[in-house]
Amino acid sequence: MVEKSEAKKLQEKLTHSWNNVWDKIEDKEQIFRLNEEYKSFLDNGKTERESANEIIKIAKENGYIELNEVIDKNITIKPGMKIYANNKEKYVAMFVIGEEKISRGMNIVGSHIDSPRIDIKQFPLYEDSEMALLKTHYYGGIRKYQWVTLPLALHGVVIKSNGEKINVVIGEDESDPVFMITDLLPHLAKDQNQKKLAEGITGEGLNIIIGTIPYQNDDIKDKVKLNVLNILNEKYGITEEDFTTAELEAVPAGKARDVGIDRSLVGAYGHDDRVCAFTSLKAILDIKQPKKTAVGLFVDKEEVGSMGNTGMESKFFEYAVSELVALQEESYCELITKRAMANSRVLSADVAAGFDPNYPEVLDKRNAAFIGKGITIAKFTGVRGKSGSNDANSEYISDIRRIFNENNIVWQMGELGKVDQGGGGTIAYILANYGMEVVDCGVPVLSMHAPYELVSKADVFMTYKGYKAFYEV
Ligand code: MN
Ligand code: MN
Repeated sequence: MVEKSEAKKLQEKLTHSWNNVWDKIEDKEQIFRLNEEYKSFLDNGKTERESANEIIKIAKENGYIELNEVIDKNITIKPGMKIYANNKEKYVAMFVIGEEKISRGMNIVGSHIDSPRIDIKQFPLYEDSEMALLKTHYYGGIRKYQWVTLPLALHGVVIKSNGEKINVVIGEDESDPVFMITDLLPHLAKDQNQKKLAEGITGEGLNIIIGTIPYQNDDIKDKVKLNVLNILNEKYGITEEDFTTAELEAVPAGKARDVGIDRSLVGAYGHDDRVCAFTSLKAILDIKQPKKTAVGLFVDKEEVGSMGNTGMESKFFEYAVSELVALQEESYCELITKRAMANSRVLSADVAAGFDPNYPEVLDKRNAAFIGKGITIAKFTGVRGKSGSNDANSEYISDIRRIFNENNIVWQMGELGKVDQGGGGTIAYILANYGMEVVDCGVPVLSMHAPYELVSKADVFMTYKGYKAFYEV
């Protein structure tokens, strides 16, 4: 073997490059195994409600007790206790009580379980040209042209006038019908082709076809609409007025699938942000007795600004922590909750923009996250000069860097796009308001917010390992 030159040695010592997870993991089977579980998690929860219920189901199977039960029975909080709080079946908080008191601070991983989609309006059903259609209002940042001419499934709830709640899932079973939004044929798209990409398909144009057979009666108008209502009534016992109290979401139909001849990727709807929800859920389930109280947050409404009583901006988390503090301390005092919050550390678990060789111009290659290079830390998000961003402190990133390096976590730094190319935000700044140390940290994704997004199985695995190491500090 040739001796390495002095320069080569110096270069290895002084310069840095990111690793590929596949090069660093000998037992690749563990990566594939975890991703089989991940695909089921995706298939079992395609809306915030379904994901919340899936998380609660898994939490219960793993010995978690509901917070209200703990309060009702006035159970004393002890280290190792596993508790979950359910916020309206759209937002779940999981706690593993630490050896230290909660007031000393918590280690929190916070993800979101809502994804961009197409919501059905509150008075949606109409007939035009002997077709019945549903009016929609899209949710979150979708690129509208991506959501036409693909099979859609309807998920959600309808609450009848008597208060009965009907769960709806149509379009996921192989024998189910699916739904579709149409697009123009190229032969007649001369005018549409001249429009900007963002304007070719309009929001009010995203109407979903739901039926075309008329009800058998000659004397009435809107026979196709009536036939649809009749089918819905026979199947679910609902009437048109019941749409007013429904939350129905159209999402891409079908299951998560392996992508690539080497099966290295997962293609699915809703990686953003169920990939971070799944990896943090697995991490909190797998930790042993933590020193600090470990918290998994799975919130709703991130894609529309985190508002509302199921979003991160709501006081629900603070409330749940107050309840736990009250059960742990001799006497309750608000200051203790404030201390618990201020002493906490957070990984804001959200997806990063993966570098896409089809669109190299939107990212700075030196600072972009790459598919397969592991869990990604984003120091800041924001737009135009970091505006609106939680810019994580060096001291805190240094702690995370040490945790990752000491636990052989393959990690990388990633920036959300080139300067002035656009940008975005996460729940990071909301938790930072309490004085917590917060940094964005998650899985790089390709085609983010598209009906079918891509992640690397290696990154899913490494993100799970990273979150676990963070909890176990
Ligand atoms: Mn997200
Ligand atoms: Mn998003």
